[in-house]
Amino acid sequence: MPAKRFYDLSPYVPGEQPKDRTYIKLNANENPYPPSPSVGKVLESFDMNNFRLYPDPEARELREAIAEMTGDGITADMVFVGNGSDEVLSFIFFTFFDSDRPLYFPEHTYSFYPVYAGFYSIPYRRIPLRADFAIDPEAMLSGDSCGIIFPNPNAPTGIYMPMDSVRDILNRYPRDRVVVIDEAYIDFGGQSAVPLLKEYPNLIIIRTFSKSFCFAGARLGYVIANPPLVADLFTTKNSFNHFPVDALTQKIGIASCRDRLYYEGINREIMKTRDWFSTELTGIGWDVLPSLANFVFARKPGLEGKTAYEAIKAKGILVRFFNSPGITDFVRITIGTPEQMRALLDVMRGIA
Ligand code: PMP
Repeated sequence: MPAKRFYDLSPYVPGEQPKDRTYIKLNANENPYPPSPSVGKVLESFDMNNFRLYPDPEARELREAIAEMTGDGITADMVFVGNGSDEVLSFIFFTFFDSDRPLYFPEHTYSFYPVYAGFYSIPYRRIPLRADFAIDPEAMLSGDSCGIIFPNPNAPTGIYMPMDSVRDILNRYPRDRVVVIDEAYIDFGGQSAVPLLKEYPNLIIIRTFSKSFCFAGARLGYVIANPPLVADLFTTKNSFNHFPVDALTQKIGIASCRDRLYYEGINREIMKTRDWFSTELTGIGWDVLPSLANFVFARKPGLEGKTAYEAIKAKGILVRFFNSPGITDFVRITIGTPEQMRALLDVMRGIA
């Protein structure tokens, strides 16, 4: 029989992952392009004998490759890797947020944050967005919080917070608590906060290979932060799972870091497709929030998000809607290939 605390869980609900592969899947912000050819080469030459042994628990070579790819003076002792950024987030919540004061995050944001807060009994406050759906830096700084977390660009809005606002938050926030910036979507046009790590010892940046590096299926996420915070995360990891990143994922991660130009190329394509798609969608009467992510958040006056989602699904395309007051009229649409987006536009033209 489960323990009492089990009955308090309220699990995260991801976008549908249908077994039916005939759907055009634009509901989980996955990349429509394959990983780089060098990942294929690693897979072809991988010796299955590697599986006999446990992987490097410190993932040293991978962390070095990430540090080198990142540049800006980042070293391997400033990198922490995990089984997707969701796991990395879980370690951050456990390590840095306490239950004396609430954690602050935007009212509409990545819906795993309240789930982990619940899991670790961390009180939290959802900070209202501005009328234009951007994160409100002033409101994020008001009152007494145990930490701040937000994605930049935010999800599901796609809206990017400019660096001067990020810097303003960091300047005014107490240095004895962390500011976590989840840069899951930073490679689609935004500017990373990595250069700020030199000035702010309490800044934690989270990244993932799931979106701009095309391997949501392999599970690899990471943190970039100053060495003492990374050391703290190792203590937490080693109290939970010593080997969260398997040997094969470490190898394909390294190959990907050395193939940055390939990923920059496909991500430029995605940005081009996003901007073209946003213009087209606006042209047929939808409001599209300005996005610097690999998805757009859009609504059509007079149409409920769920209704739009169902009409689009009936034509074989999956997008996502959110049952949260304030955004129920929106759908979130992942940017796929130009061909997929043309098919979606045809469907959306037909929705009243
Ligand atoms: N952060 C944000 C803002 C996300 O949208 C996602 C993807 N659902 C994640 C983190 C987690 O990504 P992953 O665990 O695949 O690295």
